[in-house]
Amino acid sequence: MNALAATNRNFKLAARLLGLDSKLEKSLLIPFREIKVECTIPKDDGSLASFVGFRVQHDNARGPMKGGIRYHPEVDPDEVNALAQLMTWKTAVANIPYGGAKGGIGCNPSDLSISELERLTRVFTQKIHDLIGVHTDVPAPDMGTGPQTMAWILDEYSKFHGYSPAVVRKANYKLHQDLGGSLGRDAATGRGVLFATEALLKEYGKSIAGQRVVVQGFGNVGSWAAQLISEQGGKIVAGFSGGDKMDPNSILVEDCDILIPAALGGVINRDNAKDVKAKFIIEAANHPTDPEADEILSKKGVVVLPDIYANSGGVTVSYFEWVQNIQGFMWDEEKVNAELKTYMTNGFKDVKAMCKSHNCDLRMGAFSLGVNRVARATLLRGWEA
Ligand code: GLU
Repeated sequence: MNALAATNRNFKLAARLLGLDSKLEKSLLIPFREIKVECTIPKDDGSLASFVGFRVQHDNARGPMKGGIRYHPEVDPDEVNALAQLMTWKTAVANIPYGGAKGGIGCNPSDLSISELERLTRVFTQKIHDLIGVHTDVPAPDMGTGPQTMAWILDEYSKFHGYSPAVVRKANYKLHQDLGGSLGRDAATGRGVLFATEALLKEYGKSIAGQRVVVQGFGNVGSWAAQLISEQGGKIVAGFSGGDKMDPNSILVEDCDILIPAALGGVINRDNAKDVKAKFIIEAANHPTDPEADEILSKKGVVVLPDIYANSGGVTVSYFEWVQNIQGFMWDEEKVNAELKTYMTNGFKDVKAMCKSHNCDLRMGAFSLGVNRVARATLLRGWEA
């Protein structure tokens, strides 16, 4: 099932669980705005290269739309749409005052030089600058992009609109302390995964210490999650730097207590779900588990902590960064981490409360929580007569 079909399916199940009006359901599903732009750049050798860039702004009922920009060969309109929609539910689950968006350029960033990447990012920003903004749509890094990409967007955007550090999330304080990057942002998604895992295990009378953990994917999210979990006594049995390289598929069915997919979507599907040995899956990636796999895992008694809650630490600290930029006052790292813990702990309680009142699993608990909050905001704001 492709990412959009899977996300729509989960949304529709949640809408039914909540008993939403079918017209409201439809209006929540259709994106607010879909942008597709052509980006041509001169390559270093003088030849031309053309790319297609997307920004899908899914919903803004609860605040400015928020979400990353991905540079990856598999970026396509359906995937960007699905990821934008997931951001809407994720920011609502996190209870931060944002809507959802996502962007991407279909390219392989490792095939481009640093100056080609800079030109591509600036051209893309020129094409969308009047549709993003501090109070409308705030981009952030995602797969294949990072602090440097955000600095170029910030610079290009500021040429049109004046210096605007809050227009993007900077992602890395060390590189961007001069541009308003928040302390703690670099580790935030991984730290949020740690807090989410702790909250879940507590329900089962367990703690991280002694758990055997597999982390699939060793980018920003996976590497921080592995480090922070091992600091709490978790035993990382696969997915650490310095270990032997493993087949990325076999890692998902490795014997362990906790599996943390932290890379691409759709990796746990009907082909491998039956072989998963973990008791708990913590979705650090976006939509790593296909709905068909969800059913198989549920029958096996595997507990899945869904992406829109489990990886919401990243966007939550993006929100803290935005608040600091708007106020022009930076917090210390202890405050960032303590606030993140409060948001993650409250998020888990809120998801569990929905599971209890609707007698559903954690994925439907999180979806119905997010969808309900967005639906309420939409109804309160109303439609122009
Ligand atoms: N790309 C991250 C995500 O998928 C963070 C988005 C943001 O900070 O806006 O949640």
